[in-house]
Amino acid sequence: RTVYVNGEYLPEHEAKVSVFDRGFLMADGVYEVTSVLGGKLIDFEGHAKRLARSLSELQIRKPMEDEALLDIHRELVARNDIDEGLIYLQITRGAPNDRDFIFPPKDTEPTVVLFTQSKPGLADSPAARTGLKVISIPDIRWGRRDIKTVQLLYPSMGKMMAKAAGADDAWMVEEGAVTEGTSNNAYIVKGNTIVTRHLGNEILHGITRAAVLRFAREAQMQVEERAFTIEEAQDATEAFITSASTFVMPVVEIDGAQIGAGTPGRVASRLREIYIEESRKAAL
Ligand code: PMP
Repeated sequence: RTVYVNGEYLPEHEAKVSVFDRGFLMADGVYEVTSVLGGKLIDFEGHAKRLARSLSELQIRKPMEDEALLDIHRELVARNDIDEGLIYLQITRGAPNDRDFIFPPKDTEPTVVLFTQSKPGLADSPAARTGLKVISIPDIRWGRRDIKTVQLLYPSMGKMMAKAAGADDAWMVEEGAVTEGTSNNAYIVKGNTIVTRHLGNEILHGITRAAVLRFAREAQMQVEERAFTIEEAQDATEAFITSASTFVMPVVEIDGAQIGAGTPGRVASRLREIYIEESRKAAL
């Protein structure tokens, strides 16, 4: 695989980052994951915009313009012959010459890394036909989940807790309400109404979330952006998640309670279809 690191395209085993990199020492960095369908980028503009916001919130210098970023994405897709898959992008505050809590001097170059992950069958996923089982876990992450930082230890532990419980993923709960999934936004459906948590510092502002809610409204579905509990979710007619790597994915069980008929719901399945179809049309 050819990867990108700080201006160079290299075979993955030749790509290197300093041991003093702030991303490595302090999780001082941000990332984006953009999906690729038919060799084209899904919602690149949305991801570029959120990346700029994450960088700005952390006062990390934006290392290049969106056009240059797009060129790198496309170059990696071409060099690695990606038809369906993901592009991972990470930007850290860079590598000063020692470890220090204080931010390094302003002229420290941010570290920029991108690599591809080929995922044939991303759009036609078997999981979308069976649905996922989720468990609930407490949300003990920090208070700025709207910034897409590389601090992913707790979400990683959450997925391990789910796996140990025989489930596929975990929904996180804070003050009695669901915030989001470990790496996705969480939704329930009540009749013709889609309910998902309102935006704020408590959740990541999903790029897929924004698109799916837009498509839902265009299809005359009702949308309520508000907090909901696990009990309300267990009583819902449907549940699902969204993310750039799963698109729309039905959830059929929450903490052992079957949702609806225990099979992917009509609304989630329809939204998945619309999302993939419309995203393909608008792909770059
Ligand atoms: N919430 C969290 C915590 C996430 O990690 C992700 C995906 N990285 C999402 C939501 C979904 O965001 P997106 O649709 O932009 O992939």
